[in-house]
Amino acid sequence: MARYIRSVCRLCRKENLKLFLKGDRCYTDKCAYDRRSYAPGQHGQRRAGKLSDYAIQLREKQKVKRMYGLLEKQFHSYFKAAERQKGITGTSLLVLLERRMDNVVYRLGLANSRTQARLLVRHGHFTVNGRKVDIPSYLVKVGDVIEVKEKKRTISLFAEAMDAVERRGITKWLELDKENFRGKVNAFPTREDLTMPIQEQLIVELYSK
Ligand code: SF4
Repeated sequence: MARYIRSVCRLCRKENLKLFLKGDRCYTDKCAYDRRSYAPGQHGQRRAGKLSDYAIQLREKQKVKRMYGLLEKQFHSYFKAAERQKGITGTSLLVLLERRMDNVVYRLGLANSRTQARLLVRHGHFTVNGRKVDIPSYLVKVGDVIEVKEKKRTISLFAEAMDAVERRGITKWLELDKENFRGKVNAFPTREDLTMPIQEQLIVELYSK
């Protein structure tokens, strides 16, 4: 599978937004975006000209795609699924992305970043309702209980990640039982719960051309 192998901090600088792709480092003064908040590359400090409508829509899509660590084909299939749902397509798209297992593990604070969460899920460290789930794209449902497998709880990164999550806070549609390395999906997120600066309507406009 294709993979982005350059420094992910370049992506934040390119999108002119902190995408929080590097876990704890994103909250320290080592954050590359905080230190150099201009586009990467030789001409990064040049003033950008006026962007076309298409370019603005494209950047918005790239931003969200990168935030969740997805490839174009995967991202587009989420859009298609969102289109098939009742309601506002842009909101449905964001809710689908939020329901991904790797995102939920990250949001619960059982991993420091979505990339780390994806790796931990793939390595089979979690169960959902008592059954092993090692598919990062698995979509959680309301009432699902996500747990770190008992044998894996001694791995220090889980405790460290749960301590670190206090800094960013746990979203209110999820509940964490820190003692038991367990999280629960209490509801699906509403648009108000998703506080990242995303204009999803631009993505809908892009894909509707
Ligand atoms: Fe982005 Fe985090 Fe790197 Fe900062 S440290 S530029 S937020 S990935």
